Amino acid sequence: EFGEDEGDEGDLVARPPVVTVMGHVDHGKTKLLDAIRHTNEVAREAGGITQHIGAYQIAAEHEGEDRKITFIDTPGHEAFTAMRARGAKVTDIAVLVVAADDGVKPQTIEALNHAQAAEVPVVVAVNKVDKEGADPNKVRAQLTEYGLVAEEYGGSTLFVDISAKNGTGIDDLLEAILLTADAELDLRANDAMDAQGVAIEAHLDRGRGPVATVLVQRGTLRVGDSIVCGEAFGRVRAMLDDNGVSIDEAGPSRPVQVLGLTAVPGAGDNFIVVTDDRMARQIAQQRAARKRTADMARSGRRRTLEELFSEME
Ligand code: GDP
Repeated sequence: EFGEDEGDEGDLVARPPVVTVMGHVDHGKTKLLDAIRHTNEVAREAGGITQHIGAYQIAAEHEGEDRKITFIDTPGHEAFTAMRARGAKVTDIAVLVVAADDGVKPQTIEALNHAQAAEVPVVVAVNKVDKEGADPNKVRAQLTEYGLVAEEYGGSTLFVDISAKNGTGIDDLLEAILLTADAELDLRANDAMDAQGVAIEAHLDRGRGPVATVLVQRGTLRVGDSIVCGEAFGRVRAMLDDNGVSIDEAGPSRPVQVLGLTAVPGAGDNFIVVTDDRMARQIAQQRAARKRTADMARSGRRRTLEELFSEME
């Protein structure tokens, strides 16, 4: 259902990189995600208010061009691993945050292992350089042992000294992300097809019902589209961006909050646009049945005839 075929070369357009911030606890992931958002406050549409929807997109200038970067706004690698466990590849680039006063720690290595296993290029943000006792070069030396050799040491990994607290080095970090994307990745997608993507987070809202933040990975998602997301389905009633602004359509790498689903999908569930509501319901039901079968197989419980028939339907 979730195809890789994106049509002809000519249909592909450049899309922004999707970035996950990882690193040891307290090394400044949350602070960094806030600082990055801050740099873009001027670019925000009038009337908008920052909404934490699980991801956001910012504008950055790179080599005289206006570019965009999407950040997954759930620090830590829990989201990353949960999504990967479901087979969803969300991240194009990982920013590894290492506090310059604390150096490389077990979770730094764990995060790096996840990124390397997923073959995701890494940019290192050496944070807290404002602190007394900060030793950014030590961080560079330490990470060499794990295969991350800084460019200034003859390697190919970009290290950027930052202070998330003071907001210094953030522009350089954004630049490093775009340089890495251009050097190592060919980020293009067909924006003309029906949308496909992945749910990043979802919850049940008292007034609005199921609310899911989805990342569009290819195609364009529009209000009125019938979608299936995991075992949830429905018609997109409204979409909100990360400033709480209502939008009609969202192209590749854009995160949006979607209203109109019948249930709350899980983080990492893929979504697709289908022709109509009936088909959406059918696919969702099939998926639910398949999941029940898998769960039962795992639990080793024998299925009743009735259950078998309902799965075959
Ligand atoms: P996380 O656990 O990786 O998300 O870390 P946080 O973003 O919550 O930061 C942990 C602590 O370090 C907080 O008290 C932050 O205020 C502090 N912190 C984060 N970045 C910096 C920095 O650049 N300089 C200094 N001095 N403190 C920072």
